[in-house]
Amino acid sequence: MNQTSPAAASQASRSTRGSELRAPEASPIIQVRGLEKTYRTARGALTLFHGLDLDVLPGELVAIVGQSGAGKSTLLHILGALDTPTAGTVHCASINVASLSQREAAAFRNREIGYVWQFHYLLPEFSALENVAMPLLARGTARRDALAAAANWLREVDLEDRADHRPGELSGGEQQRVALARALVGAPRLLLADEPTGDLDEMTAGKVFNLLERLHATHGLTSIVVTHNPDLAARCTRTLRLESGRLTVAGASAPAGLHPGKA
Ligand code: ADP
Repeated sequence: MNQTSPAAASQASRSTRGSELRAPEASPIIQVRGLEKTYRTARGALTLFHGLDLDVLPGELVAIVGQSGAGKSTLLHILGALDTPTAGTVHCASINVASLSQREAAAFRNREIGYVWQFHYLLPEFSALENVAMPLLARGTARRDALAAAANWLREVDLEDRADHRPGELSGGEQQRVALARALVGAPRLLLADEPTGDLDEMTAGKVFNLLERLHATHGLTSIVVTHNPDLAARCTRTLRLESGRLTVAGASAPAGLHPGKA
């Protein structure tokens, strides 16, 4: 988790809200420059990004919107070291993500990134408590300590009474709350959420987003959320649109998060 206090995070949020191009006071946690990604497919090359740039400051809750197929998931995968760019640089907290070996990338993901997907991907044969503990067990934390931390996080998402339940015994909203606890138990620097409420009904989606928003604020997180939901996007610090291989501030034609003097 980043070291920014919630107050400083909130200040960073305020300083960027409505003035996305103003020079930041803090250094970006995410800095992407000249990103390109080309997939070689049987039907030829598919190029998704054309020199995409992005800065995300500590404490920001950034929404990314865009048409299906625009490359939103691919962008999150590259930021989270699940995929590699064809060209350009991606720095996360000064770590050059694209240069990591497979082993280093796995450790980076475990330590620095919390990931929430549209589908919860909880392990069906394990309890909610064990699922939340997984990232800590994977990094070698003693089982007792990992389970204690997981119990704390189940309390954070108001599911302490479901610790022994398996995912199949939980509702869709509860499953996503467990997935959120699992994403955050390892104190990641960055939370990446790919349509985290996309598989939920409107009311449940609102509740899960409320929780995400609360945890983002109380734990001083930096978060990027891909969403199709304009109401949820409007609640974020900034909304960026991914279109034609580049990010722009939604509703404007300015480039996204590029601060003067840093381009
Ligand atoms: P979005 O999340 O905006 O819907 P995606 O990032 O999932 O978009 O995908 C963007 C495009 O890249 C899609 O056309 C998809 O088919 C293609 N794509 C994604 N992953 C691969 C891959 N591994 N190989 C080839 N094409 C891919």
